[in-house]
Amino acid sequence: MRLRSMANVYLIGAGPGDPGLFTLKGKKCMKQADVIIYDYLANRRLLEFARPDAEIIFVGKKGFSEHVTQDQINELLVKKALSPDVSHVARLKGGDPFVFGRGGEEALALAERGISFEVVPGVTSGVAAPAYAGIPVTHRGLASSVAFITGHEDPTKNSSAIHWDYLAKGVDTLCFYMGIRALPTIAERLIHFGRSEQTPVALVRWGTTSSQEVLVSTLAKVAEDAQRAAFEAPAIIIVGDVVSMRDQIPWFENHKPLLGKKIVVTRSRTQASSLVEELENRGAQVFEFPTISIEHPESYDALDRSISRISHYQWIAFTSVNGVEHFFMRLKEAKKDARAFAGLKVAAIGPATAKRLEDYGIVADVVPSEYRAEGVIDSLVQSGIRSGDNLLLPRALVARDILPDELRKKGISVDVVAAYETKLDCNGLEDELVQKLKTNEIDVITFASSSTVRNFVELITRKHEKSELMELMNAICVASIGPITTETAESLGINVPVEAQEYTIAGLVRELEQAIDDKK
Ligand code: SAH
Repeated sequence: MRLRSMANVYLIGAGPGDPGLFTLKGKKCMKQADVIIYDYLANRRLLEFARPDAEIIFVGKKGFSEHVTQDQINELLVKKALSPDVSHVARLKGGDPFVFGRGGEEALALAERGISFEVVPGVTSGVAAPAYAGIPVTHRGLASSVAFITGHEDPTKNSSAIHWDYLAKGVDTLCFYMGIRALPTIAERLIHFGRSEQTPVALVRWGTTSSQEVLVSTLAKVAEDAQRAAFEAPAIIIVGDVVSMRDQIPWFENHKPLLGKKIVVTRSRTQASSLVEELENRGAQVFEFPTISIEHPESYDALDRSISRISHYQWIAFTSVNGVEHFFMRLKEAKKDARAFAGLKVAAIGPATAKRLEDYGIVADVVPSEYRAEGVIDSLVQSGIRSGDNLLLPRALVARDILPDELRKKGISVDVVAAYETKLDCNGLEDELVQKLKTNEIDVITFASSSTVRNFVELITRKHEKSELMELMNAICVASIGPITTETAESLGINVPVEAQEYTIAGLVRELEQAIDDKK
């Protein structure tokens, strides 16, 4: 059979959940894809690797009631692969595509139509979920064989395709996928065919993610224990002596002081994403709630005009990363580049702004160590700004006027031009947030600035009662970066039980860890 190379389909294993376990090859293929087809178990975070113009299609629903059938998925894959404007399709599947992932069926469907494809294996949950629970699936002296078994046999089958007798006695470690519903039968079958009732069993739910839950029991008691704990899918069932090793090496939980904590990070324009990263590294599930969106200004005329006569200025000052980005975008639009800065002195307010300028090849002459207008002006004066100089200030349309006002008092001619506009905007997430608060799906809300607190309350109360919001907020833990932010929150009626002692992101994270540890 000849394979047509019209389109390339990649059958990619998304790994078990932790996005860090995704392969480099998978990432490369995702970046190439015009269409991405993914399902329930593939971590949505991996979609960040998609091109912004890629078409993204969700085809899986949890549990057994798939709303898209396998035949429909096969058809969709074929249709997309053959479509003339598509050169690459990425089919993203949880774990490994060929381990209980029906990847084989998709590969067959593609091969039948002569469509070329590649398989990118992934880390399968049957190995990774036990590993993250501190259970090696093989171990010298305890287990020299392991089997991967489906716990969800086709119910239309009359007799079992699983060799229970051999598995019970012949294989050391048994890893069942999709087995939670059938747990009583699985345990009963294994005991019936001769496995000891005392064999340790572990259930690992949402392994490798911050929602990971582990239940340890024995073959005799596991069905009852799981029912009592209302233990649900998706989970791997591990049967065998290796389970006992968890007591000695539960490494994942040990290094995750915020494991399973559901934390909202309210984000402002200036706030670094480092808070999200720090919390996730400690095992928290972060829900990002944006409060500001960056938009084009109504008109770029003023900015374009200053770019066209840039030699008129002696100074240019940037007050934000967004200012830098929009400036360079318009500079490029005018078919100019960093050479336009020749002869100009450049000031960057804040290290992040300076860093962004460096990305464009410009090293700022002045980076004031203090961000208040007075501090900035002192630094500029020290760097030789003089009365009569012309300074260009590309920045947000609505921003505080202290800086230009103070500069003008020093006899400097300041042109403030709009480079971008900020709008209060949470991407329509306010209902989801309120819903999560109502259903106890949030443990902590963090605030890293006063303006974010104000914007947050304003955004939510546009659609929800303020009293309702306050009641919900006061039922959970609110954490603030410092006394000024706390004061703002309290003035709006929000109790703030956790406040950072050192007013930084690291300080906030430390305080939160402490507070959660105290509650244990
Ligand atoms: N191809 C996937 C398996 C798909 S079958 C793989 O290689 O991992 C779906 C089953 O996989 C679930 O019912 C559950 O048993 C298991 N599973 C997938 N992700 C999991 C996770 N993060 N933690 C525990 N079990 C998981």
